[in-house]
Amino acid sequence: KDTVTLLDVTFNNCTMNEALGFIQNGVENSNKGMYFFINPDCLNKTFTDKYYFDILRSADYVFPDGVGINIGSKMTGQTLKQNVNGTDMFPLLCSMCQQRGYSMYFLGAKPGIAARMVSILREEYTSLKIAGYRDGYFQKDGETESVIEAVNKTGAQVLLVAFGVPVQEKWIYENRSRLSPPVVMGVGGLFDFYSG
Ligand code: UDP
Repeated sequence: KDTVTLLDVTFNNCTMNEALGFIQNGVENSNKGMYFFINPDCLNKTFTDKYYFDILRSADYVFPDGVGINIGSKMTGQTLKQNVNGTDMFPLLCSMCQQRGYSMYFLGAKPGIAARMVSILREEYTSLKIAGYRDGYFQKDGETESVIEAVNKTGAQVLLVAFGVPVQEKWIYENRSRLSPPVVMGVGGLFDFYSG
């Protein structure tokens, strides 16, 4: 496995296409995996949040997000193949899911945001299978169980979780075994970005 390690966090050293290939394999083989994007800000958080750090170390895929990771790699004599960030990946991921018939579920952001994003996606990816969407403000009300049940019932294969770092990573880690979609990915502020 081709990796780069920075501040004890191990990244997949891959191109964007290879990253999409990992996701494709995950879906095709129904392999339950956790897929995260890590930027320098996330690395900072690992110093003060041991639980988050441990979760990153147990992730199946950690993609290097942003030039800061590239610079850090160079400084430690390592060469990253590519910057694999969620914003760049998203349209490619949607295209791949559309083409291969993988259904996507969008979980996170404030009420209305995921809905707006989905309506944009329906125009841009007319045959994309959208399993469902839901805002990310439910944990406090103890609704996690019903949310997981709802996601599972849709048969979604790719679940994007946008609660911000490190809340989303902790939620994914704690619920990974009960979530049916093979691919579960933390995407931070992506829904706000895409719908805005
Ligand atoms: N969010 C959420 N539930 C929460 C807290 C935050 O869905 O309980 C959402 C928030 O609305 C925003 C995203 O999580 O869409 C966090 O965005 P941010 O840009 O802060 O992400 P990061 O920089 O951590 O990747």
